[in-house]
Amino acid sequence: MTKPALESFPRSERVAQMQASSTLAAMQKAQALRASGVDVVDLGAGEPDFDTPDHIKRAAAEAMRAGETKYTATGGTRALQEAVVNYYAREFGARYDISEVMATAGGKQALFNAIVSLVNAGDEVLIAQPYWVTFPEIVKFAGGTPVFIETEETGFQLTAEQVRRAVTPRTKLLIINSPSNPSGRVVAPAEFRRIMETLAEHGVYVISDECYLRFVYAPAEVFSASSLAPELRARLCIAGSFSKTYAMTGWRMGYALAPREWTKAMLLVQGHSTSNPNSIAQRAATEAFNGSQDCVGAMLAEYGARREWLIKALADVPGFECVAPEGAFYAFPNVRGCLGGKVKTSGALADKLLNDEQTVVTDGAGFGADGYLRISYATSLERLEEGVRRIRRVAEECVAG
Ligand code: PLP
Repeated sequence: MTKPALESFPRSERVAQMQASSTLAAMQKAQALRASGVDVVDLGAGEPDFDTPDHIKRAAAEAMRAGETKYTATGGTRALQEAVVNYYAREFGARYDISEVMATAGGKQALFNAIVSLVNAGDEVLIAQPYWVTFPEIVKFAGGTPVFIETEETGFQLTAEQVRRAVTPRTKLLIINSPSNPSGRVVAPAEFRRIMETLAEHGVYVISDECYLRFVYAPAEVFSASSLAPELRARLCIAGSFSKTYAMTGWRMGYALAPREWTKAMLLVQGHSTSNPNSIAQRAATEAFNGSQDCVGAMLAEYGARREWLIKALADVPGFECVAPEGAFYAFPNVRGCLGGKVKTSGALADKLLNDEQTVVTDGAGFGADGYLRISYATSLERLEEGVRRIRRVAEECVAG
């Protein structure tokens, strides 16, 4: 029997409609170029350039020595669950029971569990646009319909009024991501509350993706949906991550905090997919939440300094308009001023940056924001300076026609 050609592989309908992740694609392009010896400036990465703090690594080493190398409970060790509950109590005055928390392999798995355990075919899921690329893909995978809320008119700030206008009798869920990847916008606490009140009126569930929770620049405020009154978080799932806060992207650790029945459904999904997250990484994550938080402050201060430099530098790039991000570690300039000549789209501009200047940025179109570029400042100031020099050369050429 002859083997079928790879192209004829009969992908399931669910997978056939999936779009490849544009952020991962940008990362792979950078890796391939670097491997071929090219001096790449990578401003595409959605990952901290810092190493995982030492005390967290030591905890993992200790776990290995102590033989913590076996399966744990599907939702993680009791110690990690307690660390999550205590962290949210300490930081946000939130009261969660152990039965409302589970550990996951990264924030992504928390999102996946939360969406597929709730959404049915035909359900509408509200997502603010621009959005993190993975949200609509998981919603479609679950059979739901992503309904995008365009927020350009409010400078990418999601408002309760926009949410109210988007709700229909079929709305099952809203996914909120503050600070936002890619826009860096932070929903102010009062507006967040109004959004939650609007959704509670309509019985709509909410996932709050708090992946960038700690990376907020004053005067914007750190805010977790966990601090809302119990009646406003009756249908809330928090998807959290250790990846960015503690520079732990490779460890694959995250968590979900949700009402008990939702958590039970998520445990069912995880129990039949990956089971528990890595046992050694669980010990590291436990230490991340229980140990000193000085490392987080130090990383935030560094991101803050880079942000300040970058926003000033981008203000001098012709054709670029950039509002300062309030959180996360991305600038998201409107680059329409560079388009219309030979370069027509932000995607073409990103390609030109890569081809002419070996500089990786991410096209806003993948996030539902054509005409924008995402520039990550999770890289050294020195590389940022070199990157902006290259971006300026390309922008000057585009503006000149
Ligand atoms: N949510 C957002 C908005 C993200 O940007 C990311 C990673 O880029 C994640 C969740 C998931 O991160 P991880 O699975 O590494 O915890």
